[in-house]
Amino acid sequence: MQQRTRSKIALTFSALVFVAIGIGVFAGARWFIADARLVAHTHEVIGRIDEIQSMVLDAESAERGYLLTGSQAYLIDYQMSVERLPLVLATLSRSVADNPEQAGNARKLEKLVNHRLGQIQHVVGIYDSQGLEPARAAINQNAFRTTSAIREQVRLMVQAEHALLVERAASSRRSADLLLGLAFAGIPFGLAVVASVYGILLSELRRRSRAEKRAASAGQQLAINLEQLERSSADLQTLGRYTGLLQSCANPEEALEITARTLKVLLPEAAGSVYLLRASNDRAENIVNWGVPLVETSAFLVPSDCWAIRRGQPHLSDDLHRDAGCPHIGRPDEGLSVATACIPMSAQGVQIGFLFLSGAGPGPLPRLTVAESAVEQLSLALSNLRLRESLRLQSIRDPLTGLYNRRYLEESLAREIARCGRRDFPLSVLMLDVDHFKQFNDTHGHGGGDALLAAVGQLLSSRLRGEDIACRYGGEEFTVILPESDRASALRHAEELRIALSQMSVPFSGKTLPPITVSLGVATYPVDGVAGITLLRKADAALYRAKRSGRNRVLPFDANLDGAG
Ligand code: GH3
Ligand code: MG
Ligand code: MG
Repeated sequence: MQQRTRSKIALTFSALVFVAIGIGVFAGARWFIADARLVAHTHEVIGRIDEIQSMVLDAESAERGYLLTGSQAYLIDYQMSVERLPLVLATLSRSVADNPEQAGNARKLEKLVNHRLGQIQHVVGIYDSQGLEPARAAINQNAFRTTSAIREQVRLMVQAEHALLVERAASSRRSADLLLGLAFAGIPFGLAVVASVYGILLSELRRRSRAEKRAASAGQQLAINLEQLERSSADLQTLGRYTGLLQSCANPEEALEITARTLKVLLPEAAGSVYLLRASNDRAENIVNWGVPLVETSAFLVPSDCWAIRRGQPHLSDDLHRDAGCPHIGRPDEGLSVATACIPMSAQGVQIGFLFLSGAGPGPLPRLTVAESAVEQLSLALSNLRLRESLRLQSIRDPLTGLYNRRYLEESLAREIARCGRRDFPLSVLMLDVDHFKQFNDTHGHGGGDALLAAVGQLLSSRLRGEDIACRYGGEEFTVILPESDRASALRHAEELRIALSQMSVPFSGKTLPPITVSLGVATYPVDGVAGITLLRKADAALYRAKRSGRNRVLPFDANLDGAG
């Protein structure tokens, strides 16, 4: 049953109990008063009867006194009784009018009394007229019988009144008992009902207050949830924008800069750093930082210095004074509580680095899930950028020699000519071809030929300056762009390369391949031409002449000897 219905029933029941007690008390009191009144009435009736009897006796005594003494004084008493008796008899008749039996008795008594008074009056009359003796003779047996009858009638009436008295006293006792019963049983029972109603109301109040508290806390929770929801949706929007930006990043540097900007907004309470592992995986380097850090962290570290990298999962410290932080984190100042988080970055099963966050402790840094989402996006973006870069390199590099391919050569030649042209610098192109390579291939097999070509590529890369660009033009032909090199310098450089290549020893299949010779042709911008294709053709013409001139040599383009190229 519902608590509310229960308390309503209890209240109604307790009200009914009190109404019943009230009615009981009211009725009991009414009965008690009525009984008391009847008892008083009975006493009054008895009193009247006694009065009548004593007045009859008074009249008789007066009669006797008068007869004996002849004194008129006795007659006064007699007269008084004669006068009073009808009044008292009438009162008695009225008093017992509601009781037919007693009313009959009263009438009988009245008759007897009147008769007796008549007898007395008769005797007194004889006394007055004839003297004592005739009067005495007149007092006969009848007088005595009437007196006896009066006494008997009085006794009967008094007895009947006594019986009524007993009955009324019993009724009055019953009313008193009812009142007492109501007092002794009703009041404690009423109190018990009140107490239980009070208990029910109290528990209802408690339940209500608990429900109100629950409702209030549910309301608060709702507000908190709403705030979190709003914040989450704002976070999601920021993360969505961040992901979009990451996708359009051209290089890792851009991606990291956007990450720093985004995390500064998403986690304003935390300072952060991103560490990236080098390709060799032997060191991680702090690439970007934001916020004001409360602790120092190493700029370089070995992977074993970070638990996040070692275990491949986030490593959190609620308070650096209490928990074991990573070895790359410095100790915070005494009395300064700092919380940190290292979140590993990996994509497609390859570790990339980690995100380091620090903020005021103690306690976990807030909203780490947001940071984890960002790290996931960043890892994916970095991995994609690396993949893109490696694909790009694959598309511009020759896999055997590690040098750029012909397509890249043509692109960069145009760019470099333009750049040197703007600054009025020269630029030279070397065209290099291995001598008698067909024969070399025939002798040492295609594998031997490949090993040699790879070694030529390596030597060219190692001998060139940062701005020089070496390419495999095709087969065993190579091209080198030497920006800002005039003809003389290019010839010098070409000669150095020729010598170095002829001194190269290449191990293959457990032995060393025999030395080779190369021929080189040189063409220079702007003297030999201003277009890349012209320079290449002219360098090739010079190379052709070098071959014809006996190979193993360097020759510049010569308009007279090489014709138009
Ligand atoms: P020359 O001194 O006139 O240059 O004589 P050569 O034998 O080098 O003549 P040519 O330049 O015409 O020969 C090129 C040979 O290089 C043909 C081919 O068998 C070989 N070759 C081209 N590309 C490769 C390659 O990728 N690997 C190997 N092993 N050999 C290649
Ligand atoms: Mg060739
Ligand atoms: Mg050749």
